[in-house]
Amino acid sequence: MAQVLEEKAVCPHCGQKLNKWSTPTFNFADGLGWCSTFLYICFNDECTFFKNSWKHMSDTYGQEMGYRFMLHPDSGEASSLPCGSKYAMKGDIIDEIKEAQEKADLEARKKAFQALTDYYISKDVDSLLKVLMDEEGFGSVRVKAAEHLGEIGELRAAEPLSNYRCVNEVIQKKIAESVQKIHKKNFTMECPYCAEIIKIRAKICKHCGKELTA
Ligand SMILES: [Zn+2]
Ligand SMILES: [Zn+2]
Repeated sequence: MAQVLEEKAVCPHCGQKLNKWSTPTFNFADGLGWCSTFLYICFNDECTFFKNSWKHMSDTYGQEMGYRFMLHPDSGEASSLPCGSKYAMKGDIIDEIKEAQEKADLEARKKAFQALTDYYISKDVDSLLKVLMDEEGFGSVRVKAAEHLGEIGELRAAEPLSNYRCVNEVIQKKIAESVQKIHKKNFTMECPYCAEIIKIRAKICKHCGKELTA
């Protein structure tokens, strides 16, 4: 008896893949508990084990109940789980698709953050801009990209940042902060008339020719 791998958790009676079922916090029956956060259960209503148990309990004891096939994930021990109806306990099936999706998301986010750190260290402004403007990307990653652009402070990032409009307010706010940071670092500003980038000390805008009052 050994640990059962998820892909090997198959019902021997019907061949269906077993579902992970979260165990109740209380112990029932033997009082020992299952010492596991989940069990593998066959939730196939057409499973011969389930159907026969139902018939057996009804014929022998006149009871309306049955058993589902159960496999302990740690020991590989096969057993049965009593249930009062077809629908009993199905609410505790761990949604594996959701679980897998969450795991994949977590992994992708981790990778994206790692890439960001690399871009930051190598001052890769273009890649950071690309990450920031990727609307399919993770919000938290995009905010961080905007922040990094402000920290790096390269003037050439100011214009694309200023021109970019994001519906996400958190990202938009971070962009505005970073634009300010970049201008501060470079002693620059946006001309109030034409929005081109000029020196803070300029008296006349070199782009639109307007006089700037200090
Ligand atoms: Zn089965
Ligand atoms: Zn101007």
